[in-house]
Amino acid sequence: MRLFDSHCHLDDEKFDDDRDQLIKSLPAQNLAYCLTVGSDLASSRHSLDLAQKYSFIFAGAGVHPHEAAKASADYLEELEILLDQNKVVALGEIGLDYYYDFSPRDLQRKLLEEQLDLAYQKKLPVILHVREAHGDMIDILRMRVGSLPQGVLHCFSGSAQSALEYVKLGFHISFAGPITFKNAGKLLLAAQAVPLERLLIETDSPYLAPVPDRGKRNDPSKVKYVCQKLASLRSMETEKIAEITFTNAINLFRIAAS
Ligand SMILES: [Zn+2]
Ligand SMILES: [Zn+2]
Repeated sequence: MRLFDSHCHLDDEKFDDDRDQLIKSLPAQNLAYCLTVGSDLASSRHSLDLAQKYSFIFAGAGVHPHEAAKASADYLEELEILLDQNKVVALGEIGLDYYYDFSPRDLQRKLLEEQLDLAYQKKLPVILHVREAHGDMIDILRMRVGSLPQGVLHCFSGSAQSALEYVKLGFHISFAGPITFKNAGKLLLAAQAVPLERLLIETDSPYLAPVPDRGKRNDPSKVKYVCQKLASLRSMETEKIAEITFTNAINLFRIAAS
């Protein structure tokens, strides 16, 4: 079995004490590839450093909606330099978060639009973070049909109906630990509705550890629990879901299979 964790934060300070040891332990646990994702310029640079150090790690670079208010006037030029580096395979994470509202919503939308333009120009897929903002996100993406980058809705938390709207727009949908939680509710319907060729899996580690490790520090090895849950929801073998999501991820992020 080979697993692709399509979204983690290996630069996070929760890994400071044992980062290299942890990363080195992953290939033996069936982790074929990990995509470690930046949330501002500094964490994007750190993610790139890790990708340059380990062959099975790739990086995303972008400015998260939480960080929108702190972005410098020239952030787009800095970001473009990062996107041109070898092993940076996606622009992200970017998006809208109306749950926390850490940055004003108009500023979140401005940075999202600017980074969508850049991704389209660079022909890179985007990693979208959307929390309680699916209406606005779908409107923004629909306006761009014809000049829309490819991408993924990461740690998807919406309804089956909105998942299928994104699929119609050409996007992939990635599921994380919350599908294993007791209160997953309608999220399970979304996990069953997404066409197999658009499914991805992720940990979003160090956050959101899946059951049976809920509450502990998460890491990419735990993506197997997300894979198992998806397999049982869709009455399929875990190995089959692993292979499908692996293939979808290497195609979306244009990574050569090892
Ligand atoms: Zn996110
Ligand atoms: Zn994330």
